Amino acid sequence: MNVNAVEHLASLIIVNNHQFEEIDQTYLANKVLTIVQDEARELTVPVSFSALQTAQKLATNEVQVAQLLDLYTPVPSAVNRQFWSEYQANGPSAATDYFHHLSVASDYLKVADIARNIQFTEPSVYGELELTINLSKPEKTTAEIAAAKLAPKRDYPQCLLCFQNEGYLGGAGYPERSAHRLIRLTLNNHPWAMQFSPYEYFNEHVIVIDKQHEPMRINHDTFVNLFDFVDIFPHYFLGSNAGLPIIGGSMLAHEHYQGGKHVFPLERAQAAFTFATGESEVRAAVLNWPVTTIRLESTNRNKLVDYADKILQAWLQFDDQDLGIGARDAAVWHHSINPIVRKNGQKYTLYILLRDNNTSAVYPDGIFHVHPEYQHIKQENIGLIEAMGLAILPGRLRTELTEVTNYITGKKSAVKNIHQAWAEELKQAYTAEQDPDTFVQQQIGLVFTHILENTGVFKDISPHNEHLARFINSI
Ligand SMILES: [Zn+2]
Repeated sequence: MNVNAVEHLASLIIVNNHQFEEIDQTYLANKVLTIVQDEARELTVPVSFSALQTAQKLATNEVQVAQLLDLYTPVPSAVNRQFWSEYQANGPSAATDYFHHLSVASDYLKVADIARNIQFTEPSVYGELELTINLSKPEKTTAEIAAAKLAPKRDYPQCLLCFQNEGYLGGAGYPERSAHRLIRLTLNNHPWAMQFSPYEYFNEHVIVIDKQHEPMRINHDTFVNLFDFVDIFPHYFLGSNAGLPIIGGSMLAHEHYQGGKHVFPLERAQAAFTFATGESEVRAAVLNWPVTTIRLESTNRNKLVDYADKILQAWLQFDDQDLGIGARDAAVWHHSINPIVRKNGQKYTLYILLRDNNTSAVYPDGIFHVHPEYQHIKQENIGLIEAMGLAILPGRLRTELTEVTNYITGKKSAVKNIHQAWAEELKQAYTAEQDPDTFVQQQIGLVFTHILENTGVFKDISPHNEHLARFINSI
């Protein structure tokens, strides 16, 4: 059965948004009509259509869709009230479930786009790695990039992470945020907020944002913030990107963390060896993981934070010329870490990934960055998510890898220039009894393994590596 789309949406708004009641039906239909064009008044939709489907039918662009879904979504204060009352009554999972459903219904989470991503796993000497070819984030055309470069620098919202985005209209090159909502929380006595990542890279991928638009930084407070968060949401991990170029994330201008429900390959890595911390309640191990990682475990969070801070301070000062590791040149600092916290029952696990952003004549893009021979697969920074063993690969690879597959099986005589040397190598190694798609995926897994090895500051993870021992002794 089909019904009038405007009236249908008005009814759905009343059901979902408790600000409104039955007598608001006509008022809401008129509000819908002020957003869409007059002709939309005659449109019909199946009675089974969701608010998102109906809004997409009525609107002529994404800004209008978001404005319609803004009416459908309770205002920020109501969402926050509902979230925390859910939290009190039914616990943290129930609260985040509520907010996740809301974020899907308001089209903030682009579930249809996310479903297009290609995901697979590949075994490695470090355990199983995870890979995603990311098709959900719309790829910008060169024309769009050029236009964005010429556009005047905006001062409102200051950046994509600022609280100023909540309810912001958007359009003209800026994402629409009319139906965007933030969950307010307090970490270390400071105001923060939580939202889901609109193109979530993994299950319930959250971004935790500082109310202040201030640059990313890693210090003692970072540990306290991360621990406070997992105390509130013990079903989520939380970690931070490094606050430095080359080794940091893509948004260094605004302090934020990333977390969620997913359990990463890093968390399944085995200890290569353990070492004494001088604190009986804190256990430490260096993991068999390509990005050099110290894992700390304890039920005593204060002692864990104190020891983590010692590791951070030691790393900020550590030099090893033989390995290209250097803490600073004059006033420029080169060292940072990726801290990641997970809580299981009473036990906290803190992973500390050591990062260094030095460059050299041989590696002008970064000594501990993706080396040139692998940049045809990925050239962006290896941030927190990748360092934990989940590769986020560019969408262009979907077609490019098909070309490579056709090249190794002889269906095609050339591939894109950037892949030529690699494709030639694969062609030599490929035997006809193998499934070519599986073979190419295995090779991508191998490239990702090498990329993570490039990122590691100590290549030899053993208690006999005197460079690594010297660092541990400096803690
Ligand atoms: Zn900002």
